[in-house]
Amino acid sequence: MSLTSQIKEFALDIGYSKVGIIPADSFPEYAADLQRRQEMYSFYLKSPSRPLAAAEPLSLMPEARSIITTVYDYAQKNFPQELSGKIGRIYQARCYDAPPERINGARPELLKSFLRKLGCQVGEKISLPERLVAAKAGIVTYGRNNFAYAEGSGSFIYLTSFVVDKELEYDQPSVEVGCPEGCSACMKACPTKAIYEPLKLDPRRCIAFNTFMTQERIAGSRIEPEIRAKMGTKVHGCDICQEVCPRNQAKLKSRRPDDEFLVKVAQDFSLTRMLNPTEEFYATRIQPLMYNYIREKKYFQRNAAIALGNLGDPTNIPALALAMNDPEELVRAYAAWGLGKIGGGKAQQILEGKIKGETSAAVKQEIRESLLATG
Ligand code: SF4
Ligand code: SF4
Repeated sequence: MSLTSQIKEFALDIGYSKVGIIPADSFPEYAADLQRRQEMYSFYLKSPSRPLAAAEPLSLMPEARSIITTVYDYAQKNFPQELSGKIGRIYQARCYDAPPERINGARPELLKSFLRKLGCQVGEKISLPERLVAAKAGIVTYGRNNFAYAEGSGSFIYLTSFVVDKELEYDQPSVEVGCPEGCSACMKACPTKAIYEPLKLDPRRCIAFNTFMTQERIAGSRIEPEIRAKMGTKVHGCDICQEVCPRNQAKLKSRRPDDEFLVKVAQDFSLTRMLNPTEEFYATRIQPLMYNYIREKKYFQRNAAIALGNLGDPTNIPALALAMNDPEELVRAYAAWGLGKIGGGKAQQILEGKIKGETSAAVKQEIRESLLATG
């Protein structure tokens, strides 16, 4: 069996649903697009991923000859109703950049170790443009919503690639949009109009981006009030432009077994508990699913405060009032916003009571604006 066939069969054996291979050439179209839109992507361009360097794989690994790209279908099991609309499916599936000690993080490690056993040198920390790589290998097509689609899985896929120093047999590209003519359901459904034209997303307007990239160390911690109001109950990710997509309906409607771990998480997951989490809740209900981007509890609390505000249910006022005592000013500020969003006399009373003792100018300002909202 050829080296290429051995690699492909092993990848399929360990659970990838598709695998393709391309030469380790550069991706000038990707680098040009990032540079054209550098204002939108400044947070990414300066990140440790070094996407512009990765667009030239040879600059990071001079021995690079081939890129092996894989598709993992993360929607093989059901996602509980209780978590839907709050946590994106890819995060519920615990496959996005999973650590090596978790099952979905062990899979790429297994493939790397197999490649090394076959005598390949494998690149580390090369953050390739995964969708473009997979499209060039013919294993996905694009959706106008910017997601990659694989046959049989829709867009509920996670792509991982591996750069190696061996020349292999290469696949044929499918760098094309696979959407039905005239469809723009994703663009119409996006609450913030983040998809401003087919295949073009402004991350700063995307709810998913706002749930996890708005951190001091990445893009600043502020979420604009206009975006907050459109986030609904989403606390980590957003699936709307995938949920409405006709290319995903077969997968969404398919009968799949329950994920027993998620069933347990869903039993005691709540936004109020996320707003004021105990150490145990954080360790067992937040961290196992939402480990990817956020390292500090306060950002989860902020997102829960926004979600509770958007729910508009006065029974959540006590939880938001409790969060107004949190040591983190970010949490107090967004709890104030949540109270203002729910509105009414009780929320107003709490905000008026808190403004007197508040020491942070930023929180005071948020309280003042929230008081205006309560009217
Ligand atoms: S993930 Fe949500 S906010 Fe972002 S583009 Fe899709 S629908 Fe819009
Ligand atoms: S909703 Fe329509 S346009 Fe958008 S990705 Fe799906 S098929 Fe393509």
